[in-house]
Amino acid sequence: MTSPLLIRGGLVLSPRVLGVADVLVRDGVIAAVGPGLPVPDDAEVVDASGRIVLPGFVDTHRHMWQGAIRGVLPDTTLPAYLGRVLGGYAPAFRPEDLYAGALGSALEALDSGVTTVVDWAHGPDTPEHADANVQALKDAGIRAVYGYRHAAGEATRATEAGRVREACGDGLVSMAVAALGPDFGDLDLAREEWLSARELDVMITTHMGGHGRENATAGLAFLDDQDLWTPGTMYVHANDYTDEQFKRIADHGGTVAVSPAIETAMGFSLPATGRARAAGIPTGLSADAVTSAGGDMFSLMRAAYFTERGRPDGVGLGFTAADALRMATTEGAQAAGLGDITGEIAPGRQADLVLLRTDLPGIAPAPVHDPVAAVVLYADTRAVDTVLVAGRIVKRDGRLVANVAGALDRLAASAAHLAEAVSRDAEPEAAA
Ligand SMILES: [Zn+2]
Repeated sequence: MTSPLLIRGGLVLSPRVLGVADVLVRDGVIAAVGPGLPVPDDAEVVDASGRIVLPGFVDTHRHMWQGAIRGVLPDTTLPAYLGRVLGGYAPAFRPEDLYAGALGSALEALDSGVTTVVDWAHGPDTPEHADANVQALKDAGIRAVYGYRHAAGEATRATEAGRVREACGDGLVSMAVAALGPDFGDLDLAREEWLSARELDVMITTHMGGHGRENATAGLAFLDDQDLWTPGTMYVHANDYTDEQFKRIADHGGTVAVSPAIETAMGFSLPATGRARAAGIPTGLSADAVTSAGGDMFSLMRAAYFTERGRPDGVGLGFTAADALRMATTEGAQAAGLGDITGEIAPGRQADLVLLRTDLPGIAPAPVHDPVAAVVLYADTRAVDTVLVAGRIVKRDGRLVANVAGALDRLAASAAHLAEAVSRDAEPEAAA
């Protein structure tokens, strides 16, 4: 039992505008929301006057290991990314590099108000790497769904998935199967991924529907043929599905993760934001790869807002700032399989909360006119004053509680090793 926490007098967005209210937190859970709540004995009171109080953001798909190679590949395309990042850098990662990368990614996320991430762990995949990754998530104190990817050709992978699930435990970190899926052609592996997720009773998140219309159609036919449709499956980069196919995904209880910055930067087709939501699919936002674009949720909300409103067919002009905020919170939580745990400010939800300053030149006086627009169109990480995960304060008065200097030292050491290893590997080719 910890002492209760009363967040007093903030402008609360649940993410819908509730008005000025207090939020009472007991044992990591939101106990009450309303104006003028009585202050319990022994409560810590956090003054939120002049602040916007939001649900913590949910990033539905981020390759956390890539925190160690942030910025290695701007101005790229998907094939170049696959060659350089997965083919070049990933094999050079030692477990300590993975730890440094995942920790750095988690601290970036928390600093910008992202309290939940789906970590799509498609980097190096030995048990030691998986353990280092999971440990970094735990040490960072972020809520995470660790997306375990089955190593191709590894005889022990089924037992390894079970072991990783145990390693995640039953705290803030849970497990999903991060399935490469049928689009990449290994149908035996894809079938194994789906069956393993069913056996472990964990969510599937899969990169499907983003690799050409033909592959997208073939992938859904594979689910039909093998009877593998599974409710709660999250489709990442699903831009190549038709509106009809989105209706089928909705009927089967699927969700979608859009990566509006990376998809437009790397030459995927137009983000499916509005088309997926029109089919009734909970659709979350995601940073994807910090090798090639930043990972704060403000940038992602704006990328989604502008790409959707800029759709050539004009239909996207119905997409609003409130839609973007819902995707970053409530719908993101649904896509992450945590729809009844986080993503809203309501009694019974986990106290994953963000307090935003409004007294900054780039934000004032927007909250007076439209607090949702203030968050989606004007705020950035500088405005993130206080962040709570399950009631624990991880950022206070604009500063992360974690040992940031230590994390940066680890990143610097890993960056030096990785840059050296990759340039060494590249030498023979360059000489040829
Ligand atoms: Zn991805």
